[in-house]
Amino acid sequence: MAHALSIDVFTSGYKPVPGGPGWDDSAPATWPASTATLISGDRDAVLVDALLTTDEGRRLAAWVQNTGKRLRTIVVTHGHADHFFGAGPVLNAFPDTELVAADQRVVDEARGQTTPAAMTLWNSWFAGQLAQHPATPELAGSPDHDLEGHTLRIRTVGTADGATYATIVHVPELRTVCSGDIVYNDIHMWLWKSTPDTRQAWRASLDAVAALAPATIIAGHRDPDAPDDDATRVLDQTRRYLEDFEQVVAKSNEPPEVIDEMLARYPNHGNRYTLFLAASSQFPA
Ligand SMILES: [Zn+2]
Repeated sequence: MAHALSIDVFTSGYKPVPGGPGWDDSAPATWPASTATLISGDRDAVLVDALLTTDEGRRLAAWVQNTGKRLRTIVVTHGHADHFFGAGPVLNAFPDTELVAADQRVVDEARGQTTPAAMTLWNSWFAGQLAQHPATPELAGSPDHDLEGHTLRIRTVGTADGATYATIVHVPELRTVCSGDIVYNDIHMWLWKSTPDTRQAWRASLDAVAALAPATIIAGHRDPDAPDDDATRVLDQTRRYLEDFEQVVAKSNEPPEVIDEMLARYPNHGNRYTLFLAASSQFPA
């Protein structure tokens, strides 16, 4: 009988970004803190997501090397740059490692993030900090991944924060889900340009994760000071945030009203800049 799997989480901090029009520069605008999760057996390991900047990728590679595990695979949950552009230094440190996604649509969306137009956009946020030709995931041979006899299930769940298709990694024997961006943990949610329909679709994705009855959820974006990864807490929080945003936008006339009301309801959530963008996008001039 194989030994139990273990899970370790690397959480990036908040990175400064240009605030742009309307942002009050007395507080720095920042990018949401992100996670990469190492699932380890006795010798081998699988990494879920690989962060964004080259510096983050280097720190992530050193962190994985420190565990002494042999990294076999990096699974990319969805095709947003902030979950795989940092893979380069990790792939350099572990040259036999494969970078994969379990759904062709995630592969395609990830490739779309490396076009010249997309790179121009990402470079405008993170000048000088990004790989200019990031490795993109290949399609995994199977949606089930074997790690020393333990099964990791990679499942397409649906849409969340703008990614067309998002997958999760489910570790049934640990009742754990690495949720990518479907579940958030103590960070304002990426609702930029969201609509009632996209928010409804996001709620359906939350239901699909909840149906797996996980005890632990590692959210793709998690505040470094979040108290835990308790599945019930983070699912409830994410669902309630979507409902609150819906309600607050419906009764507001301009972005500051939405921001003030959401801050009153979520005073300790990280990354207010995300809320600023979300609120601003709901009232086109
Ligand atoms: Zn993300």
